[in-house]
Amino acid sequence: MTKPVEPSDPSEASARDARREALRAAPTVLVSACLLGEACRYDGRSQRSERVLAALEGKAVIPMCPEAAAGLGIPRPPVDLAGGTGVDVWAGRARALTRETREDRTPEFQDGARQALEAAQRFDATVALLKEKSPSCGSQRVYESGVLRPGEGITTALLRADGRTVVSDEDL
Ligand code: SF4
Repeated sequence: MTKPVEPSDPSEASARDARREALRAAPTVLVSACLLGEACRYDGRSQRSERVLAALEGKAVIPMCPEAAAGLGIPRPPVDLAGGTGVDVWAGRARALTRETREDRTPEFQDGARQALEAAQRFDATVALLKEKSPSCGSQRVYESGVLRPGEGITTALLRADGRTVVSDEDL
């Protein structure tokens, strides 16, 4: 198992420590289903992470794939954010577009995000552990118009707006 790269910026490092601590203290965690081994990624694969499974030991886990929950299908065309990141999508300044054909999937991504928030609220999960770089689940970096940049996905932005802590699998 490779060790995660620690941030060189001290404020980033302390923010990461705070997220790790929130995860340690949380009895119930909403988790990207692909990290748990569910084959729900756009390419029909999983992203099972032993590090994630170890971090969740003894906790109640709520598996969630916002994109599958929204009926986008498995597999499905990959989607990039365009015009901004997740926060900008909710503000109406950005969209979620299929990478090849530029079809607008924003309503479906927002529907999946709302379903994730509802699940978190129903089970009182104040912390989510989500897959980095996804247009839904990313929390530190996402692809915008094909370029990886700082920012969050559409589900992460909604969970944060509701006061929930989103931990990245790359934080572990
Ligand atoms: S990153 Fe999120 S949306 Fe993508 S497959 Fe995993 S759970 Fe589903």
